[in-house]
Amino acid sequence: MEVVKITPRGYCYGVVDAMKLVRQVAENPAAKKPIFVLGLIVHNHHAVEELDRYGVISLDGENRLELIEQVKDGTVVFTAHGVSQEVRRRAEEIGLDVVDATCPDVTKTHDLIRRLADDGYTILYIGRRGHPEPEGAMGEAPDHVHLIETAKDAEGLDLDGRKLAVVTQTTLSRWDTEETISHLRERFPQIEVFNEICLATQLRQEAAVREASRCDVVIVVGDTRSNNSNRLVQVVREQAGRPAYLVDTVADIDPAWLEGKQTVGVTAGSSTPSPITREVVQFLEAYKAPETATARG
Ligand code: SF4
Repeated sequence: MEVVKITPRGYCYGVVDAMKLVRQVAENPAAKKPIFVLGLIVHNHHAVEELDRYGVISLDGENRLELIEQVKDGTVVFTAHGVSQEVRRRAEEIGLDVVDATCPDVTKTHDLIRRLADDGYTILYIGRRGHPEPEGAMGEAPDHVHLIETAKDAEGLDLDGRKLAVVTQTTLSRWDTEETISHLRERFPQIEVFNEICLATQLRQEAAVREASRCDVVIVVGDTRSNNSNRLVQVVREQAGRPAYLVDTVADIDPAWLEGKQTVGVTAGSSTPSPITREVVQFLEAYKAPETATARG
């Protein structure tokens, strides 16, 4: 098949740095053991398994405040998604060594939320409920921030006449958030908008939509728990109007998706290790798609 390798794809700099940091700590004989990662370093089990091999314990769960209570001593790593101030306080109280792998783009959003809260703003944070990033971001000013997934979630809130700001999670789809923000603007004309979708997410989504237009189908390599991988599937389907499927590995590819197709696009979420994507590309390059019943006539 003809394979369009969509670029950029795969690990973003925030994930590369986080993985590097954990490996460095694991290899440092002076680091206090055991070494825990608070949550999954990224939402990809291949990346987590790589850290297992370094003897690092990944605590699986999205709620960082609950997870920190499981750590009694040693070193704790905060993931690229960031943590709330309360988690930082608890780590200090327990007496843990802290390694902070929070992505600089997430830290920028935390700083913004603190600044807005100090200036008396009420903040609507558009994010995914249950994802660790909103937990950390909202934890910067819990009394000032409301988590919403859609504009509908803001309907019950008494916000008229308030200084109001909307801030987004870094890994959302820009098309989704634009729609939500335009609804919010209609209802709250005073609202100030801070689009915090990171450049890595934006570039991957824009490339996927652009390149999908010359593909019959697009395969997104990523873990089902990865928000940014799921968003890539969504934007290809909704913005480019092409079929798109999420696969964890080459074994998940269903030949029915490729039937009668000539060109397949491949992209990967920013938490997907390159070797996994490479295997998918190699498989597809060597693959000869069966013709459809119609094509066979
Ligand atoms: Fe940072 Fe964006 Fe990567 Fe998240 S997806 S780690 S915010 S660069």
